[in-house]
Amino acid sequence: MGIVHFTDLRTTPGHNLLDKVVELMNAARLDSKIRENDLVAVKVHFGELGNTAYLRPVFLRRIAKRLQEAGGKPFLTDTNTLYKGSRSDTVSHLTTALHNGFGYSSVECPIVIADGLRGTSGTRVPIAGEVLKEVHIAKEIADADVLIAVTHFKAHELSGFGGCLKNLGMGCATREGKLVQHSTVSPRVNVETCRGCKLCTGYCPARAISVTSKKASIDGRKCIGCGECILICPFNAIQVEWNESPDIFQKKMVEYALGALTGKRKKSLFINFVIQVSPACDCYPNNDAPIIRDIGILASDDPVAIDAASCDMVNDETSLPCTAIKHTLHKGEDKWRALFPEIDWNIQLDHAEKIGLGTRKYKLKKV
Ligand code: SF4
Ligand code: SF4
Repeated sequence: MGIVHFTDLRTTPGHNLLDKVVELMNAARLDSKIRENDLVAVKVHFGELGNTAYLRPVFLRRIAKRLQEAGGKPFLTDTNTLYKGSRSDTVSHLTTALHNGFGYSSVECPIVIADGLRGTSGTRVPIAGEVLKEVHIAKEIADADVLIAVTHFKAHELSGFGGCLKNLGMGCATREGKLVQHSTVSPRVNVETCRGCKLCTGYCPARAISVTSKKASIDGRKCIGCGECILICPFNAIQVEWNESPDIFQKKMVEYALGALTGKRKKSLFINFVIQVSPACDCYPNNDAPIIRDIGILASDDPVAIDAASCDMVNDETSLPCTAIKHTLHKGEDKWRALFPEIDWNIQLDHAEKIGLGTRKYKLKKV
């Protein structure tokens, strides 16, 4: 049974929420996971430009300080996005992080984008998955001694909810790894927007792109699925075919989480903030109204148990009015299904349990 530590959001002037976060980390035996001078990757989401539901830097500063007190050398990290947006290369990503309040002066530890300038820097990690036998994990996360995933818990249109497992699985993958999770085929050229500039042909490592009659085309037999062309095209003419089924997507995602944790099972800790539970992920340049009241913060060394507990807590609430959930849902009613009726969010938890990432059975301990 997984132990999940939980604190609600009640505070006093002498005992604030930052103190409570530290108490959660203590309860989850943080010190047993860190040796002196360990490099500690703190996996966060800096928020797309325009999104406001990502976690506040002040929480990360306190978490980083506690990691430093434990002897570790923490750095905040995330990976570049598969799609073209405000975090699709390291320069844009760091600039967005700064816009959203994350800089050395606010978090008091370095920020390192884990998969290199263009999202190609990774380590191949063999895994015993059901769908995948190898995953491509961002280099700086793979190289770290310790992995702490700090997650804003929310809904997600492909996995029902987006929690710790998604932060690990999608969030620690290189662009190639993200493409594998989302798609079964090569990227697609939009001939309407392609201008035949040939820039993509020089970047394709597999020489899979050719340009004839001023239009690019991709040879799916040669394409190795690195995803580089998606980022390179200055006219956004190369796009992902988001065609993977939600069921297989979730399985691949948790198998990537397995890869991210390879070699770090005893040197990892997970913290879920079940606050501002928005109806879609923080990769959008906006976030809609929270669907339930703010609940609290959880910590565990079991990534399945912490997501299972967070899910149950959300479903134990009554939905708020004036949100994406049109008709009030009461305690016990499934909020994720109400948002995304086609998605069976249980798949990610069941599959994660099946491949040995943790257990859906948990015991909640109030801190
Ligand atoms: S870089 Fe974009 S616009 Fe230029 S040829 Fe390739 S797909 Fe077309
Ligand atoms: S995904 Fe990579 S290998 Fe495939 S066409 Fe694009 S650049 Fe080439």
